[in-house]
Amino acid sequence: MSKKHHVTQVYQPPHRTVFAPQTDEAPIYYECPVCGFLTADPSFLDHEHPCPKCDASGMERRVYPTERVRRLDARIRAYHRQGDHEIVVILVMALLEAVLEDILDRIMEAHGSDLPLRRMVMDTQRAIGTRIGKLFPALAGEEFEEAAAELGYRDFPYRWRQMREARNAFIHDSPFNGAKESLQPSMGNDAMQLLDQSYQLFVLLNNRFVADGYHGK
Ligand SMILES: [Zn+2]
Repeated sequence: MSKKHHVTQVYQPPHRTVFAPQTDEAPIYYECPVCGFLTADPSFLDHEHPCPKCDASGMERRVYPTERVRRLDARIRAYHRQGDHEIVVILVMALLEAVLEDILDRIMEAHGSDLPLRRMVMDTQRAIGTRIGKLFPALAGEEFEEAAAELGYRDFPYRWRQMREARNAFIHDSPFNGAKESLQPSMGNDAMQLLDQSYQLFVLLNNRFVADGYHGK
């Protein structure tokens, strides 16, 4: 493992990522089917508008995140409006794990891994800690924390880990744990912040490690 740099270089992507506006639902990004680039730039809806990364045009662009994630996102926001912070924390952690699985799968695919291989890796590496701590660096060539910091999300991995630990303590509460752990109401808001940030971070990770990766080589 490499020594931490004293100054983190902020990664300058060759093509600016356009973020989706903040609304009360999952953001909508459009994906270039050739290189995997993601952008919220509405001009991307026009098939003839060339991809800023690979110049491809004339093909339909898929929407990201997937319908499955969008449905879960909508349910989370409904629970949040009702003030059900415990369910919000549990579901946001589940959604973030799905989004992470998606980005790992996309990086593997960009590196040329076929579906049976990707499925085998995800089936055998189920623990979130292993996926972040081992699988991500093996694929991206740097630690998750390092990549997040370079993209402007230095606190994200730490806050995500803290919330996973709180979630685990809550779910696995037992008479042996001593004082009863509980999820504070403020954690519902923290979880919603993480959720909104996660889409932006994962779009940036995608545009760096998928669209700027080894796609098609
Ligand atoms: Zn492209």
